[in-house]
Amino acid sequence: MKSDFKELVSWSDSEYSSLPWRHNRTLYTTLVSEIMLQQTTVGTVLPKFQSFLDKFPTIESLASSTDEDLREAWQGLGYYRRAVNLLKACKDLQSTDSFPEDETELQKITGIGPYTASAIRAIGHDLPALAVDGNLKRVLSRYLEDFTPYEKGLDDSLRKLLTNKEFSKILTQLGPRKVNEALMDLGRVICRVKNPLCLTCPLKPNCKAYKNATQEKLPVRTKKAQKLIDLNLIRFISFNEQDEILLYKKNDKEWLADQWELPTVAINPEDSFKQYPHTQLKIPNSTPLKTGITKYRIYNYAVKHEPAVVHKEIPKLAEREHRFFRLENLPHISTATVKILKKLKIHE
Ligand code: SF4
Repeated sequence: MKSDFKELVSWSDSEYSSLPWRHNRTLYTTLVSEIMLQQTTVGTVLPKFQSFLDKFPTIESLASSTDEDLREAWQGLGYYRRAVNLLKACKDLQSTDSFPEDETELQKITGIGPYTASAIRAIGHDLPALAVDGNLKRVLSRYLEDFTPYEKGLDDSLRKLLTNKEFSKILTQLGPRKVNEALMDLGRVICRVKNPLCLTCPLKPNCKAYKNATQEKLPVRTKKAQKLIDLNLIRFISFNEQDEILLYKKNDKEWLADQWELPTVAINPEDSFKQYPHTQLKIPNSTPLKTGITKYRIYNYAVKHEPAVVHKEIPKLAEREHRFFRLENLPHISTATVKILKKLKIHE
C-alpha cells in the first residue's frame, strides 16, 4: 500500500502542484479554494481564484464585503449559495483568533459543513483527516473494493481508514495534505466515473477493484440517477438604440434569485413548469448552447429581436424589474447569460 501512495503523491506533485491554490497557501485561501471547488470543475475555478483573492485578500476584507461586490467576484462560479456560506464563515472567523483544528469545532463555524471541515483539517492544517468528496469516495471505494452504498455509510466506512495503522503511517509520512490532494487529482483525471484509466494509475498495483474488474460497479449507488428532462429555452438578445442590452432580475421564488438574465421563454414545457413564461414559438433552427440546472438539461437558443418584439412575446416582462445595461457595466448576470453573451462574442 505504501509504495502505491508514494507513487500517487509523486504523480500528483509532478502534474498538479502548479494549481494556484497550492501556492502560498493559508488557511483562508484553503477555505476559499475548497468552497469554490465544490460542485465546480478545476477549469471553472482556475480563471477566477486569483482575481477573487486580489479583491478579498483577507478574511476581514471578505467579511466586510457587500452582497453586490461578492456577487460580482463570484460571477461565473455558479451556485451562489456557496459564496453566502463563505461569507458567513468569514464573519464568524473574524470574531475568533484562529481556525480550529478539530473537525467538530470547525463545523461550529457558520457555513462550514462536514466536507469543508475535513478539507480544512487535512489540506489547510496538514493534519490526519480525509476530505471525502465524490472523487475520494470513488477512488477509495474502488481501491479497497468497499461495497458500502454511497448514500448509506460509505463516508463513515472510508473514514475508518484513519484508524488503520498502515494507512495512518502513510498519511503521516507522506503528509495528509499531499495524500488528500493526490486522491482528488486521481479521481478527477484517472479514476473517472466511466472508463477509468487503470493502466496509467499509480494505485493499480494493489487496487482491488482493478484486480477483480469491479471498477465500474463502485461506488455502489442505491438511488437511481435522476432522469434529466430536456428543456428548450429562447433567450432574447435585445438592444436599444444606445446599444444597451435588455435584462431582467430573477425574483426570490425563481432559480438564481437576484441574478439578472436575458429575457427568456420556455418552448412548450410541461404545464407545471413555472420558471419561465411558456411560448408556442418553434425551436429555432440554430445550434443551442447546452447548460443544466436541477433535473433539467437545457438547450439555450439565442434569438435577436427589437425590445418591442420581446415585450410582445413576454407581456409580463413589463411588470418585472427590467432594464437596459451598457455591456461594460453589467450587473450580476446568471452563468447561462454569461455563456450565451460569450458564445455570441457580445461580451467576453
Ligand atoms: S486502478 Fe483503476 S479503479 Fe483502481 S484506483 Fe486506479 S483508476 Fe481507480
